[in-house]
Amino acid sequence: MEIVNEDIESLLLYGERELDLSPAGKAFARNRLLELLQTEPSYEELRQEKTDIETVLDRLTAYAVENGIVDEELADKFPDRLMNIVMPSQDDAAHTYSRLHRDAGRVAAEKYFSYLSKASRYVKKAKPGSIGWPVVGESGDFTVLIPSEDRAEEESGFYPQCPYCLENIGFCGLPGQPAQYTKRVLPFDLDGETWYFSYRQKQIVADEFVAATEKHRPSGEGRSVAAMADLAEKVPSGFAGATPEPKEHEFLFGAKRALPIFTRPVKKVFFDGDYKVSVLDWNFSVVRLECYIKKDLVHAAAKLMKYWRNYAEGNVAYPAVYCTDTSYIADIALLKAGQKNVLFDKPDYYGAFGVIVLPRSLKEDILGLVAALGEKKVDFQRIHDSERLGKYLEWVIQIAAARGAGLPREKALESILSMIGETCIAAAKDFSVDDKELERVVVESQK
Ligand SMILES: [Zn+2]
Repeated sequence: MEIVNEDIESLLLYGERELDLSPAGKAFARNRLLELLQTEPSYEELRQEKTDIETVLDRLTAYAVENGIVDEELADKFPDRLMNIVMPSQDDAAHTYSRLHRDAGRVAAEKYFSYLSKASRYVKKAKPGSIGWPVVGESGDFTVLIPSEDRAEEESGFYPQCPYCLENIGFCGLPGQPAQYTKRVLPFDLDGETWYFSYRQKQIVADEFVAATEKHRPSGEGRSVAAMADLAEKVPSGFAGATPEPKEHEFLFGAKRALPIFTRPVKKVFFDGDYKVSVLDWNFSVVRLECYIKKDLVHAAAKLMKYWRNYAEGNVAYPAVYCTDTSYIADIALLKAGQKNVLFDKPDYYGAFGVIVLPRSLKEDILGLVAALGEKKVDFQRIHDSERLGKYLEWVIQIAAARGAGLPREKALESILSMIGETCIAAAKDFSVDDKELERVVVESQK
């Protein structure tokens, strides 16, 4: 018997175990798979074995390429095409979510959709090769992360118009662009408008998600905090955020509430009335607003963010909105313009909350620096003149002065990673506001 029939059965078994495939659904899916793979049903008893799903999909894809069922250049999209057959349809997934939300609550509903997004492999496992390490700050620890791939630039096209458009669901993809066969979305009513929620296909921090408006429309002023609070209610384990840059297609994003900021204690309470305002003991200046009335929280947060952005040129406010059993909370990072350093112009959204994501290209820079520090005599002139490494000259001078030349690989790497950490810590200080000024801003903004 052909191994392809066994692999089809293994895939169906996976659908049954992980993706709620019913007996009738399984029979239906088997016929779709036989048709797609242009093979005959088997008359022999097939082994029902639990095989690693990646192995099964790889083998079925190789079979499809060998037999001319799929073009080699589209082979990377074929596993998702197979998976699509054994997973819930868009409407089934949305109905199951809605039923669970109604009967078992929002926590159970969130769990279902998160599990589905991972088990269907829509959320891709990180490619090996990303590196991360902890950095001890004065007020809490950071994680510095260099992912194995940079997040792709989000470009607009003809169809789908952009990566946030509804037309992406089930789209077969284009060469060089991932397929969306397994993308499923949930309709959410956020601030009186329909938005669509999904997890991110490539994740930098855990359980990253996005919610985008139904229409391909640009971001508007002033409505997003209310939408964030509504979104936060739907994702009880997470937080909702947004960045201030204008967007061609409005979207909000968020992730699991696992960034370092969420474990930091309160340093000082500014105000404790109908709503509570405090500042956190954290490397960046972060104001926490808490209130059990959603409307009031939204109002106070929007006022503070608007005030801060108009307060001085270069100011940014990054909000993280979430809800607990008792309150709606907005942790708002207030950053001012600071010195551009060798790593970034301004810490990005996750950076302000404790996960500093650096570009993938930095890995090659690090290797270049390790090699330079390993030489018997460090060639400062060559580093100065180097297009790639020139900007790190100051680091090299400092490391060579402290530890000498001819550093073994490990020691050089350790020194460079610690330089990166120090640069991040210094930036946190540089872009932060002192507590007195922060208090003034909070009081003035709420008048
Ligand atoms: Zn769009």
